[in-house]
Amino acid sequence: MKSNESFIPYGKQNVTNDDIDAVVQILRGTYLTQGPVVQDFENAISNKVGANYSVATSSATSGLHLACLSLGLGKGDWLWTSPITFVASANCALYCGAKVDFVDINIKTGLMDIESLKRKLKIAENEGRLPKVVIPVHLAGSSCDMEEIAMLSRKYGFKIIEDASHAIGGKYKEKYVGNCKFSDITVFSFHPVKIITTGEGGICATNNSGLAEKMRDLRSHGIIKDSWRQKRKNMASWYYEQTSLGYNYRLTDIQAALGLSQLKRLDNIVEERNKLLEYYAEKLKGMPISTMNIPPAVKSAGHLSVILIGEHQKRDAIFEEMRKRNIGVQLHYFPVHMQPYYQKQGFKKGEFPNSELYGKSAMSIPLYPGLSDEKQDLVVENLKGLL
Ligand SMILES: *Cc1c(COP(=O)(O)O)cnc(C)c1O
Repeated sequence: MKSNESFIPYGKQNVTNDDIDAVVQILRGTYLTQGPVVQDFENAISNKVGANYSVATSSATSGLHLACLSLGLGKGDWLWTSPITFVASANCALYCGAKVDFVDINIKTGLMDIESLKRKLKIAENEGRLPKVVIPVHLAGSSCDMEEIAMLSRKYGFKIIEDASHAIGGKYKEKYVGNCKFSDITVFSFHPVKIITTGEGGICATNNSGLAEKMRDLRSHGIIKDSWRQKRKNMASWYYEQTSLGYNYRLTDIQAALGLSQLKRLDNIVEERNKLLEYYAEKLKGMPISTMNIPPAVKSAGHLSVILIGEHQKRDAIFEEMRKRNIGVQLHYFPVHMQPYYQKQGFKKGEFPNSELYGKSAMSIPLYPGLSDEKQDLVVENLKGLL
């Protein structure tokens, strides 16, 4: 079964000649950094996902940071997220001086478990340490149960940031993820392995004009250029005013042009990813593994093809062997609370058992637009031989 074919990565970007032309056009123009195309990209995302405002950022990581700051997260506050995510969903709390805790996942979906969230909120209420912000993570492109989480947010008074880094183009209850009906802010990532890319980049979508304004200010040093918003009046036109401590988290027009061009293909890309997932499901039938359940209210963006291998010894052995055979399997994710940095903060092994079980069993197999049937067959045949 050993193959000499070139390496099959677990994911990769899809860049067309139109994308390249769009970027080159910017390079020949006036603005390279944040300019009119960033605004066009923001408007296009807002229109696509059905949110009132979009704020483009240099990455989803900086977007998560701005989202937390705009919601007033700070020292002494708690932020809760899932242990099965990229570290950025937790780190954003620490950037703000807040504390992090986790809510275990549902092992069938990989998503934040609503019953665990309910239990943990009850306990936290009694102990007076309710979270200020909860970040559900739409793992592999499947939306969490946002209506339930929104109901709990009203009961317990927390804010919601959806980490939709995997989920642009996906739907929840027939509507695009990012419409923010059940959240305050939704953050998307445009890293090259995600659904569409800007090289590096992210966007914060929201329906709240105040939050959008805060995130815009903080994205660019906390500097305000509109004279009507400035504290000092009747200043000359050179005047700009810093009113808060912001950052340089801007996206560039070069990147936005790539994103805008990619966005046109979003629905097609999501369709293709879902077709590839169906093909895998068909071919994997009868094998001693499980795949992630996609809840009925969800249309996945199809970001990852995750399989669970029950015997953990076997998972690691298969993992190594697949890589030796040039098949780029990956783990999404090693539980964040098990990272040395978070262990140092006091998290213990055994605290989030489903997440730890998932971390020992999961393996992402290659999935990206343009992946051929032959390559999918090769992945499946190799896997079959090793199980
Ligand atoms: C990729 C990713 C991020 C960070 O995105 P960047 O744009 O690389 O900063 C955050 N959360 C999740 C779940 C991700 O997959």
